[in-house]
Amino acid sequence: MAVAGVLVLGSGTSHGVPMIGCRCPVCTSEDVRNQRARPCVLLELPEGNVLIDTPPELRLQCIRFGVERVDAVLYTHAHADHLFGLDDIRRFNELQGCEMPIYAEREVLETIQRAFAYVFMPTQLAGGKPQLRLYPLEAPLHLCGATIEPLRVYHGQLPILAFRVGGFAYVTDVSYIPPETEARLRGLEWLFLDAVRYEPHPTHFCLEQAIEVVRRLRPRRTAFVHLSHDYDHATTSAHLPDGIELAYDGMRVEFEV
Ligand SMILES: [Zn+2]
Ligand SMILES: [Zn+2]
Ligand SMILES: [Zn+2]
Repeated sequence: MAVAGVLVLGSGTSHGVPMIGCRCPVCTSEDVRNQRARPCVLLELPEGNVLIDTPPELRLQCIRFGVERVDAVLYTHAHADHLFGLDDIRRFNELQGCEMPIYAEREVLETIQRAFAYVFMPTQLAGGKPQLRLYPLEAPLHLCGATIEPLRVYHGQLPILAFRVGGFAYVTDVSYIPPETEARLRGLEWLFLDAVRYEPHPTHFCLEQAIEVVRRLRPRRTAFVHLSHDYDHATTSAHLPDGIELAYDGMRVEFEV
């Protein structure tokens, strides 16, 4: 057993919080926990750091929270809020002097090749492109001294991946967890789970549904992620059941691998 950590680089939903053009109390709040970048976590494993998703604020959040090394990137799915910071990976290529291994399902790798076509084309020297090595993700993966298990969940109709590593699981952008995946989410120290807003949503768990899932899975502790401007951090936190909290950008917790 070794201790690993997870650092929240983005706790927000696809719009981010504050949202453009919104003057609501949460979007105008001075509590920094109400300022939520697009969704991303960094796994700090025994032998290196693994990033889950590359959201648009990746550069800003790496600078803000002192992330200076990334050894591999995993993708949950290819929606814009999880993908469009990929170009910033080139800074880690420069720092570390090597290509970045990218692990995702085949459909996600195809979207990456389409959306970032310039990365995979020959261009003039000093073009400043990320150097990526793409690997299809189909089975548990041994990375940085830990085993990372991809798990099937559904984001509306879209099949996407959740990840479990040791006592930690990251289950974002989810509206249905099949029974075989629920069986792999027992005995967790920490569950990070999508709870996008109060009202039901077609492709995400709302707060009530997420609390239901926590009651079934019984992790020791839970942090809700992919949060909209529905939630004022302090007032919502005061009303959540014991063992459940809202994630915030910069939150870091530890778990065993
Ligand atoms: Zn999302
Ligand atoms: Zn707002
Ligand atoms: Zn999504």
